Amino acid sequence: MRIAVFSTKSYDQEYFENYNKNYDFDFFYFENSLNRHSANLARGFDAVCVFVNDIVDEATIKILAQQEVKLIALRCAGFNNVDLKTAKKYGVRIVRVPAYSPEAVAEHALALILTLNRKTHKAYNRVREGNFSLKNLMGFNIHKKTVGVIGTGQIGQAFCRVVSGFDCEIVAYDIQQNDQLKDLGVRYLSLEALFKESDIISLHCPLNQYTRHIINADSISLMKSGVMIINTSRGALINTADVIEGLKLRKVGYLGIDVYEQEENVFFEDLSESIIEDDMLLKLLSFPNVLITSHQAFFTKEAMDEITTTTLSNISAFQNNEVLINEVS
Ligand code: NAD
Repeated sequence: MRIAVFSTKSYDQEYFENYNKNYDFDFFYFENSLNRHSANLARGFDAVCVFVNDIVDEATIKILAQQEVKLIALRCAGFNNVDLKTAKKYGVRIVRVPAYSPEAVAEHALALILTLNRKTHKAYNRVREGNFSLKNLMGFNIHKKTVGVIGTGQIGQAFCRVVSGFDCEIVAYDIQQNDQLKDLGVRYLSLEALFKESDIISLHCPLNQYTRHIINADSISLMKSGVMIINTSRGALINTADVIEGLKLRKVGYLGIDVYEQEENVFFEDLSESIIEDDMLLKLLSFPNVLITSHQAFFTKEAMDEITTTTLSNISAFQNNEVLINEVS
């Protein structure tokens, strides 16, 4: 089976080649992302394999279907970048990696919280320059604070378990409540009450029509002054212009994001010698209380092992006409 792998980085190829010893698929690696302009590259392939920022919209799927591509294998959990209706219409099957390491993402969310709060990134640079002053490095205790978790699926649950070690109050909002978390002491609230009560808000819900811009001017107006907002889920959960306004008004005290609304042409790339033209991103980078990482929350050895083995097993199940347990429909 011939598979075109899009948005390939060296580590993807290394992991795929290593695990392919058990399968012997014919992989071809493209550095380009998949979109309507690059979809013709899939000519002659049976399947494509894509990641979070490939744009698998109606136009792209139509071209893939014309090339007789029968399978789109996502090597990620979220599928907001895929037009499922069009895929169904053209008989293109979609598989994903539903959970590869919820702990990897949860632990990164915690890293963002601790770094923003205790400013270890600034302290590291200061001390290296011989500056041992503590000025502006004061943080706050997480102990006894209220942490609000939006979305308590696999990652949200792992995040609740991780932060429970701080002996803080954990409140949550989800359209489906989880009894195990209630046993852990997590208190489910309405979204509005969560916004009002939380000192730290961490987003772990998927991006869909109901959650797009769940953080906006209205929700920010309900929050405590100085609130910390953490997003390791999908960029468009936050209305970037509104959060910039919240930062300027000092209402949002800290922002930690691993994902960004317009991340497609920026994240995962080395642009250190380029002019970045995204004014909103530049504005965010100018705030001392904003921390941005480049969609790396998933990036642990354990997660890469799981992503690769599940993706290859999904493709194998398709090839062998087996039930696709990780199909998205
Ligand atoms: P999951 O499906 O296990 O959990 C999602 C949870 O969100 C579910 O409990 C669901 O009921 C809830 N939810 C759905 N709609 C909601 C709404 N309107 N309001 C509140 N909650 C809602 O997914 P997961 O594995 O926990 O992943 C969550 C998200 O994390 C993914 O969709 C993906 O976007 C993101 N993610 C990011 C990275 C990264 O590297 N930054 C890696 C993996 C996943």
